[in-house]
Amino acid sequence: MTSETDIATNLAAVKARIDLAAAEAGRETHSIELVAISKTKPAPLIRSAIAAGQKVFGENRVQEVENKWPEIKAQYPDVRLHLVGPLQRNKLKRAVALCDVIETVDREKLVRALVDEMAATGRTLDCLVQVNTGEEPQKAGILPAQIDEFLNICRKDYDLPVAGLMCIPPFDEEPAFHFALLAEMARRNGLQTISMGMTGDFESAIRFGATHVRVGTAIFGARPPFKPTQ
Ligand SMILES: *Cc1c(COP(=O)(O)O)cnc(C)c1O
Repeated sequence: MTSETDIATNLAAVKARIDLAAAEAGRETHSIELVAISKTKPAPLIRSAIAAGQKVFGENRVQEVENKWPEIKAQYPDVRLHLVGPLQRNKLKRAVALCDVIETVDREKLVRALVDEMAATGRTLDCLVQVNTGEEPQKAGILPAQIDEFLNICRKDYDLPVAGLMCIPPFDEEPAFHFALLAEMARRNGLQTISMGMTGDFESAIRFGATHVRVGTAIFGARPPFKPTQ
C-alpha cells in the first residue's frame, strides 16, 4: 500500500522519467502534461499529490468523481480533473459539473448531449475523442477509418471544441504502432492534444508525440485487481 509520503517521491520519479524521455525525443518537457490517474485511490492520497505540486488528475468512473472530488475541487479550484473512462448519459450532468476535460467522447449522441449541457451550464470542457486504435470489439472509441468523418461531425454539426485524441492500446500488443497511428490522426486533423501512454509505456508515448500521459500505478501504487472498464 502506497503511503502518503511515498507519493511525493513517486511523483518526482515519474517527472524525472518524463524529463528524460522528452530530452531523448528532442522535446520540451513542459509540452508534456502528466495526468495523475487516481482511480480507486482514496482522497488523502490525492491530497498528498496536490501537496507535492500535482495539479492535473484523472478518474475513470463518474461515480468515483462524485464521491471524491466535490470537496477537493472546492478546496483547490485550480486543480483540473480529466474523465478517462466511459461517460453514460445519466451521469453526464455530474461529469460536466465536476470535470474539466472529457477524454472519452466516442459517439454522436454523447456529443449532442455534451454540447447541450455545456450550453445550459455555461461550462466549457476540453473534449478529446477516444480512438479504438486496436479495433477491439469490447473497447470504446471511434474506429481509425471513421475518425476524420467523426471529427468533421463534431466540428461542423455540433461546434464541439475537440482539443485532441486519446487511445488505450490493446493490453497485449506493442503500443508503439498505436501511438504512431494516433499521432498521425491528430496531425492530419490539426489537433494539438494527444493523450496516450500509461505507467508501462509513457516513455514510448512521449517519443511518438504524446502531449498528455496518464499515469496511475507509478504514482499511487498498484490497484486492487478489478474488472477493467473500457
Ligand atoms: C487506469 C488508467 C490509466 C493509468 O494506468 P496505469 O497503468 O496505472 O498507469 C490510464 N488511462 C486510463 C484510461 C486508465 O483507465
